[in-house]
Amino acid sequence: MPFEVVQLAENVYHLQSGANVGVIITNGRAIVIDAGLDDDMGKRIKRTLESLGVSLAALILTHGHADHFGGAAYLRRTLPPFTVYAPPLEAAFISQPTLEGMMLSAGATPIDQLRGKFTLAQPCTVDQLLEIGTFNLLGLDLEIVPLTGHSPSQVGVRYRDILFSADAFLPVATLRKYPVPFTVHMGQALETLGRLNDLNGALFAPGHGAQLSDARQVIAENIAVLERVIETTLMHVRTAPANDGALTQQVCATLGDSLPNAVSYGLARTAVQAALVYLYERAQVTFEAGGAWRATV
Ligand SMILES: [Zn+2]
Repeated sequence: MPFEVVQLAENVYHLQSGANVGVIITNGRAIVIDAGLDDDMGKRIKRTLESLGVSLAALILTHGHADHFGGAAYLRRTLPPFTVYAPPLEAAFISQPTLEGMMLSAGATPIDQLRGKFTLAQPCTVDQLLEIGTFNLLGLDLEIVPLTGHSPSQVGVRYRDILFSADAFLPVATLRKYPVPFTVHMGQALETLGRLNDLNGALFAPGHGAQLSDARQVIAENIAVLERVIETTLMHVRTAPANDGALTQQVCATLGDSLPNAVSYGLARTAVQAALVYLYERAQVTFEAGGAWRATV
């Protein structure tokens, strides 16, 4: 996986790789935002901090997906003690990573395909839960920004005019590859995207892809993709009542997601379920005894 250290501003860095990492430095100490997928990314973070001549004081984990916290265990094992922060609910997934596979397996014990490193990270103990709002850390004023929708309590970190925006939006190339992107709450995801769209003048440092001084185009693409998932789900429910599994297959076939394995199926099924929740909350579908969803409009 390529790896590049991009300086965003004085004392602010974005380590760009498969999943990106933020670094904010003050007085020889570092606040690191997310930890990447695995030991390899953990080593890269450690080496980067060494080359910058700073020690790790605080690790903020934005959400409990393996590709964003899997490198944390390596940092815990190999560096002097530091404090790990994460939002509630996400902290449960970070300290008990088997929950991610269970979530993608409808709560059942995950099969082997759901126990690879992209869905089963090494656990990391979370020391403190994050709250939304101003957060003074090492003398710096950070703002913990709610970015729910992609995961239940994902947060971003704003420092000066830079927003580490986690997976609130995905690069356009990723959307082309995964036209039914993982989402747990469509309404919240759309609200988050609308709020970020209004953040004029911010520099975005996303969890995937390069930094963006103008994110409006990519945000618009993300909104369009989620709206397409919702519309396509409603179209299929209108055609015939069906359960979430059948609808996942139908929606993915319509939108061109080939569902090659249990991970892609589990991710897409959650997104389609989130579309059904969105429609249910707006009384456009009902849930019937027997497990099928039926359109009301
Ligand atoms: Zn994620």
